[in-house]
Amino acid sequence: MYEKAAQLIKKANRTVAFTGAGISVESGIPPFRGENGLWNKYDPATFEISYFLRNTKSSWEVMRDIFYDLFGQVQPNYAHIALAELEKRNLLHAVITQNVDNLHTDAGSKNVYEFHGSLKKLRCMSCNSLVEVSKVDLNTLPPQCTKCSGILKPDAVFFGESIPKDAYTKSFHEADRADLFILIGTTGEVAPANMIPRIANARGAKIIEINVEESSYTGSVTDIFLQGRATEVMENLMRQINGSKSE
Ligand code: ZN
Repeated sequence: MYEKAAQLIKKANRTVAFTGAGISVESGIPPFRGENGLWNKYDPATFEISYFLRNTKSSWEVMRDIFYDLFGQVQPNYAHIALAELEKRNLLHAVITQNVDNLHTDAGSKNVYEFHGSLKKLRCMSCNSLVEVSKVDLNTLPPQCTKCSGILKPDAVFFGESIPKDAYTKSFHEADRADLFILIGTTGEVAPANMIPRIANARGAKIIEINVEESSYTGSVTDIFLQGRATEVMENLMRQINGSKSE
């Protein structure tokens, strides 16, 4: 399995990684969905754009609690780092991520399409300017834009908001062009992101899937299923890619 996967990666002309919550779990980021998911602890309504607009301060308080205190100190893990390494070696063209934790960029990946935006940046709802959250004082909520005093909102996609146009266009473009997709830690529950691997497969791309458990992709589009935690599987895979002359 690993040998076959390594060969596919070496031979492909255009490989794209498609990542979800499962790749960041080992960095200490809890998933949103599932038994231990954040949605079991917090009301998802907090992250509806209409709720945010009506209850900006209290919504921000919850977000500061979850994202900026809890997520604030996390580091990329080996799986993120391995993808950055593959890109450096021209074995990976891009990463499409559904995560909003910025860990691919932190790990050194350059070509990252953040399908659901990023929490690392805040966007002014009045003048649209972007600012790094590290430069913003979150002691006073909601934070305000220094240019126009507008309200700042995390630049992640809330329920009811559309996907950032640039990431959307580029991701679906990759679905048309890539000949290999590596899915990591994504169960394929969230639309429209979950369509990307399926479209890629329909256009002829091979699919390597890395997951702790089988997903809706496994029995349908996946060619090679590598079961296990993201870091563990990526370590094995990198060893196989680096490994010797084995075809
Ligand atoms: Zn502004």
